[in-house]
Amino acid sequence: MAYLLYSYLIRKTVPLLDEDEWREVEGLIKLRSRFIMAYKKETGCSLEDARKYEPRGQEALERYFQICGQRLDHPEELYGVRLSRLGAVCPSCDKPLRTPKAKMCVECGYELPEGEVAGPLKPKSIAHLRVKTGNENS
Ligand SMILES: [Zn+2]
Repeated sequence: MAYLLYSYLIRKTVPLLDEDEWREVEGLIKLRSRFIMAYKKETGCSLEDARKYEPRGQEALERYFQICGQRLDHPEELYGVRLSRLGAVCPSCDKPLRTPKAKMCVECGYELPEGEVAGPLKPKSIAHLRVKTGNENS
């Protein structure tokens, strides 16, 4: 299940993918540098264009769209859509902390008590942000 949340990498609110969905996308962008270099060599385009237009990256963007119904602009934005990268919801502002190891909220400045870290984001705490995905039948 995908959840509509702020991506710190992309700097906007987009559907973030659970681990099953992420694996489908990740499978396409694994070993990405190899595909980028092959495409650059084959087409003679710039590195920047190869990073954007190399076919496996485009396929990964398409897969992301099929899963959650939204489009991203660049294959590398996909590195910002993995839900498990975020930490638990901030007790003060309700946004997820940046990572499970975060000690403070970069959104509102809330600091966790000494010695505590955010911990993983629990799907229950963000149930209201759920996006219906292409993997569901109803
Ligand atoms: Zn906060």
